[in-house]
Amino acid sequence: MPKQHFALFGNPVSHSKSPLMHNLVFGALGLDACYGRYLLEDGTLLREKFLTLGLKGANITVPHKEHAYRACDHLDPFAQKVGAVNTIVKREGELYGYNTDAPGFLRAISAFESRKVLFLGAGGTAQATAAILAEEGYEVTILNRSAGRLEKFRQQGFACYTFETFRPEVFELIINMTSAGLKDEALPAPAEILETIIPQTKACIDVIYGKETPFLRLAKQHNKPTKDGTDMLLYQGAIAFEYFMDSKYRFDEVLPHMQRAFELN
Ligand code: NDP
Repeated sequence: MPKQHFALFGNPVSHSKSPLMHNLVFGALGLDACYGRYLLEDGTLLREKFLTLGLKGANITVPHKEHAYRACDHLDPFAQKVGAVNTIVKREGELYGYNTDAPGFLRAISAFESRKVLFLGAGGTAQATAAILAEEGYEVTILNRSAGRLEKFRQQGFACYTFETFRPEVFELIINMTSAGLKDEALPAPAEILETIIPQTKACIDVIYGKETPFLRLAKQHNKPTKDGTDMLLYQGAIAFEYFMDSKYRFDEVLPHMQRAFELN
């Protein structure tokens, strides 16, 4: 079989651990394959680039997941439902699209055994993960800085608030789904709201990985268990790998090799 090529598309892509994660698995399993990164500025060119690069598969990150959704010939039902694709696989010349962020996130939080959760943020990641949690019977409330993005969630039956309309209650998990804290020292919601709800929660989770965000720092000050976005990233990657290899390798077999990406710098 000829060498298989994979890539990450996004803007930016230089910071991503995905190439290292996948290349470590290819090496460990002795597969003749490699995974690179492609800085894509114009998302409408995604399909063309994918094909001209001769890729077998790709992951897609910010801000092109909706373009990836439109680039595919076939969509998995969950990707279809949430309108965002982060994994594409080519089979017999046609592109198949999947969303592995949301199942990755579901696995990452399942150990907490909590059902009533508050999402801080209403962007693309919140959209996909709220949908899968609702399917699994979680009760998800959305709190977002501005009202614009909440309408979609409201139509899907989620309780939605802005900072101005929010009335504190007890949530078992509080999850930062925003990019606040990624490149700055911002909290995802006003300190007075967080100071009211964090003391009553069981644990705080952030989807940002690779750094301690102001949100997780605040949670630790309140002696709450915390978790960053590392497991979500690993799990979405291991699920994507299963699709890339048409299920020849299972999640549990792949994961330990991917985990090494976080031991190397
Ligand atoms: P989007 O751009 O789609 O959404 C951003 C959200 O963050 C919006 O709700 C926005 O609110 C809110 N926001 C941004 N800045 C602030 C701020 N300073 N204060 C309060 N709210 C803010 O982003 P995504 O959903 O694509 O990504 C969100 C995060 O998820 C990113 O940090 C990304 O790195 C992370 N992520 C992690 C993954 C992993 O594997 N660990 C996978 C995918 C994403 P508003 O509507 O008011 O603008």
